Amino acid sequence: MTYICIMKLTLKIKLLPTDSQKELLMATLKEVNKACNVISEVAFTKKLFNQMKLHHQTYHMIKGSTQLTAQLVIRSISKVVDAYKLDRKVQRAFRPLGSIAYDDRVLTYKSEDKVSVWCIGGRQVMPYICHNKKYIPYIKGEADLVFNKGKWYLFQTVDLPDEEIKDVEDFIGVDFGQTDIAVTSDGDNFNSEQLKNVRKKYSKIRASVQSKGTKGAKKLLKRLSGRERRFVSINNHTIAKQIVAKAKEQNKGIAIEDLTKIRFTAKTKSKNQKTELNRWSFYQLRQFMTYKAKLSGVKLLAIPPAYTSQTCCVCNHIGTEVSFRKGKKFACTYCGYKADADVNAARNIAAWGRAVNRPEKSDMFCILHHVSRFKAHWVRCL
Ligand SMILES: [Zn+2]
Repeated sequence: MTYICIMKLTLKIKLLPTDSQKELLMATLKEVNKACNVISEVAFTKKLFNQMKLHHQTYHMIKGSTQLTAQLVIRSISKVVDAYKLDRKVQRAFRPLGSIAYDDRVLTYKSEDKVSVWCIGGRQVMPYICHNKKYIPYIKGEADLVFNKGKWYLFQTVDLPDEEIKDVEDFIGVDFGQTDIAVTSDGDNFNSEQLKNVRKKYSKIRASVQSKGTKGAKKLLKRLSGRERRFVSINNHTIAKQIVAKAKEQNKGIAIEDLTKIRFTAKTKSKNQKTELNRWSFYQLRQFMTYKAKLSGVKLLAIPPAYTSQTCCVCNHIGTEVSFRKGKKFACTYCGYKADADVNAARNIAAWGRAVNRPEKSDMFCILHHVSRFKAHWVRCL
């Protein structure tokens, strides 16, 4: 079986405008948002929420009263129409420095490092930085021009054709562990001592700041969690990249659990920041693995999460958590197999992956049918 589909990615592109170009970008951003506010008032007072009708009512007025190019007037009208799709009860207001949308009529990539952006007064060619240059040829559709903390960015949509997803015989199982971030059936362990240390450091700072509870302290907390999140993000990218690269190299697929064990259940709903960050981190890692696998043409299967940690990966004996998992060690009471608990779980996940992928060739498939909680149709191909 092969699958082909188109994937949408958003590239973050940092613009490097000169000082005078910065002023032009700023003037354009403000002018568009000002226009949006005028259009929004017309839309709201006349109850015109449809692109065509609003266009007739406002296009010439905006074109005549601003310095905007036709395309940006049209974009402004669309922005207003989109805003009212969510709620028509209140008049929508646009922040003066809110992001604005560009398309290929007002934005052209000249080369691998120069982009031409329409600004008030005419197009400006400026250098840019993009860390994923290989995606530049696939740029298509809209980009948002964003001003954030004194810097200019384009968030550019990219349509990527996937590599054809190859069918495979074997899978690398990945267990998103409690103590480690991820453990594979090959025994690769991503526990990142560094990550733990960083978290420890931040939680110490947080505890001392929290006890103060002032407004300034709240701000600091917010900033801290942002930094922590960025760190976790970079780490997740690295882990996902390594696992996907290995699978591709070994011509294997990747099997993961369909929604991670307890992390998304009601029990763990907590306002505790550490737990929240954990949940978010595992969700993100899964997302990264999913899209990186797609981009590399690696098959990724999500299998039902039950029993993977209680089953012996050698004899398939299923027992209870209590008697089987003692801390990090797994010991089978039936055949005596001993292993790291997460590696055992990852091997089970890999086996389920194989079974689900090729039911006719696997003994695991009988188990799939016998254990009532495992139903083949639960398995989703991501
Ligand atoms: Zn066993």
